[in-house]
Amino acid sequence: MSASTSSSASTTAPAKRPPVVRFDNLIKSFGDGPRVIDGISLQAEQGDFISLIGPSGCGKSTVLKLMSGLLPLTSGEIVIDGMNPVNAREELFYVFQEPTLMPWLTVQANVEMPLKIRGRPAAERAAAATKALALVGLSERADYYPLQLSGGQKMRVSIARAVSMSPKVLLMDEPFGALDEMTRDHLNEELLAIRQQQAWTAFFVTHSVAEAVFLSNRIIVLSANPGRIHTEVKVNLPYPRTEDTRLSVEYQRLVAEVSRLLRSVERLKTKTAV
Ligand code: ADP
Ligand code: MG
Repeated sequence: MSASTSSSASTTAPAKRPPVVRFDNLIKSFGDGPRVIDGISLQAEQGDFISLIGPSGCGKSTVLKLMSGLLPLTSGEIVIDGMNPVNAREELFYVFQEPTLMPWLTVQANVEMPLKIRGRPAAERAAAATKALALVGLSERADYYPLQLSGGQKMRVSIARAVSMSPKVLLMDEPFGALDEMTRDHLNEELLAIRQQQAWTAFFVTHSVAEAVFLSNRIIVLSANPGRIHTEVKVNLPYPRTEDTRLSVEYQRLVAEVSRLLRSVERLKTKTAV
């Protein structure tokens, strides 16, 4: 029964789905060192595209590593789809800045690799990889080797590998940071087009304000020493976003606003460093 027909509808809010990801007061230090992350709490709803932006060393990569269970928390809690990060490993996929392809394997075999590691049957692996390569526009290159690809194509293979796993949560750590601006813009558009078909919740680390605004519905600006949430900026630009989005007044206003916030946290960092 829908909430609107229920007699208690006027007094009871419809049951909200639990967040896909919940951070509860994350604290992280390495050994006896100072706190690198100090009290980060947030909740991500299904389908959120969250960018983490902030000065170098503020803990962006550490947050992703904590989420993926690669690093243990000092205290606090991370819950992903009701599980701790180690148990939630199958729900996540982590895309690094480097495409991390095996040079001796074809594009197809590279995309199949994570599925192979998880013991999926050959036919299922092949079908998932073929579909993922089509989504990133690389069907024609399935039999190529990484050395025969451009930087942008290698990153597409890396994205295809993630997509073939249909993860619930996709973690991306500056995946397009090494690419030229035009290739990056294209890949941003492609990433959102893929997302129309696979509704993962995304955590995306970037140094590019323009990229963060283009992709995200939420931007978390972090301050450094220790890493904390400085501000969250909501991006209410409608999806699907296209090249025209970048020309809109609202997009440009948001880029200016986030750039200003980033400059202010950079200044804070310089002050605490001296
Ligand atoms: P960002 O990705 O925002 O540039 P990182 O998350 O990589 O920052 O690092 C945050 C801080 O934690 C930095 O000061 C870095 O030197 C420190 N750090 C990261 N990994 C380790 C580690 N394995 N051991 C000790 N310190 C680390
Ligand atoms: Mg980093």
